[in-house]
Amino acid sequence: MYDFIILGGGILGMSTAMQLAKTYPDARLLVVEKEADAAQHQTGHNSGVIHAGVYYTPGSLKARFCLEGNRATKDFCEAHGIRYDECGKLLVATNTLEMERMQALWERTAANGLEREWLGADALREREPNITGVGGIFVPSSGIVDYGEVTRAMAAEIERMGGEIRYSTEVVGLQERSHEVVVETSQGDLHGRFLVTCSGLMADRVVRMLGQAPDFTICPFRGEYYRLPEQHDRIVNHLIYPIPDPAMPFLGVHLTRMIDGSVTVGPNAVLALKREGYRKSDVSLSDMASMFTHPGILKVLKANLRPGLIEMKNSLYKRGYLEEVRKYCPSLTVEDLEPYPAGVRAQAVSREGKMIDDFLFVDTRRTVNVCNAPSPAATSALPIGAHIVERVGQRLTDLGQH
Ligand SMILES: Cc1cc2nc3c(=O)[nH]c(=O)nc-3n(C[C@H](O)[C@H](O)[C@H](O)COP(=O)(O)OP(=O)(O)OC[C@H]3O[C@@H](n4cnc5c(N)ncnc54)[C@H](O)[C@@H]3O)c2cc1C
Repeated sequence: MYDFIILGGGILGMSTAMQLAKTYPDARLLVVEKEADAAQHQTGHNSGVIHAGVYYTPGSLKARFCLEGNRATKDFCEAHGIRYDECGKLLVATNTLEMERMQALWERTAANGLEREWLGADALREREPNITGVGGIFVPSSGIVDYGEVTRAMAAEIERMGGEIRYSTEVVGLQERSHEVVVETSQGDLHGRFLVTCSGLMADRVVRMLGQAPDFTICPFRGEYYRLPEQHDRIVNHLIYPIPDPAMPFLGVHLTRMIDGSVTVGPNAVLALKREGYRKSDVSLSDMASMFTHPGILKVLKANLRPGLIEMKNSLYKRGYLEEVRKYCPSLTVEDLEPYPAGVRAQAVSREGKMIDDFLFVDTRRTVNVCNAPSPAATSALPIGAHIVERVGQRLTDLGQH
């Protein structure tokens, strides 16, 4: 019998397991992951940005954990010899409407406790000669890292502290009983006193395995990228972000310096027809059936029909995609957009048709389940893990087992 079983070998599962192993050094702990290695889904297919916490509603878990996570990620990297770069980020306004929206972001960054600098057009040009805009906000604490490397370092810590990790082990059923949780896997049954699930794109299905009827579903959004050719590795000095449309849930196509020295363009946001489908041609009939029969997802699609169709058009038509980035980086041409692997975001959608904005956790007597952890959850992985350890502690107290 294990004391703790953690489902999911992404950054949240590993962060939680590492912190549980530190808090309960005598506990028997196991991480189960269906893939052959850690970080094979969202954690290994993202922009690699250590977010500062610009956009999030003040007082939300996202705002709090992102701010804490920005520092904690850098400290973790330093302690484990992982390369990161605090290169800073520039939000760039290209017209009067975006200047107005930027003013709102300026106030939000103050409310979220961020250090930042307002730039006029000249100061912007001085910092970024290849970027065109009428103004910008510079946020110095944003950085870049390889989250796959961070996750593998967490996995090594778990094993160093005596925890076990089983890869290629898919959880296919869960039974919560009065004194244990039975975890049915492709490799046989496992027994644990307590279960934490961090299953990303499968979060609703895992909660359903527990016999719960979740009032949300996961909607997968593919984020497609391009990579700039090597001669453009120095085209920007910082991360360059557009001013997001407040009606849209994602940040807009940005220019991201990656930790390997390259620069990516992206990601866009197109509805994925398969949850773990990284190519445009990937389709799962069962994933599509569960999506297109969910009242919440249908409402989201209806409410976002126009922007959704534009995203889809730009996904198929490279020149349309290019125009998104040429708004602030006009020297780029269609030949500069080279292929780069996509990612798929897990976005929880409520039955009422709202994209759930904040991080969301659902607990039962012997389980804590991460149900919505989109960006900036990689940045926030250490505080999210600490938060889950607290929730587990509370549940154990309730069970009289602390
Ligand atoms: C395109 C894109 C760009 C992003 N950019 C950023 C960014 O720059 N900065 C940032 O902070 N965040 C970013 N994010 C968000 C961030 O990557 C995620 O929030 C984070 O990785 C979530 O981690 P996770 O552990 O919850 O999920 P995942 O990494 O998806 O891990 C879940 C794991 O659970 C496993 N699993 C699922 N079901 C089962 C089962 N039944 N049995 C066994 N194992 C199972 C999966 O195989 C997977 O390994 C981005 C995300 C995407 C997709």
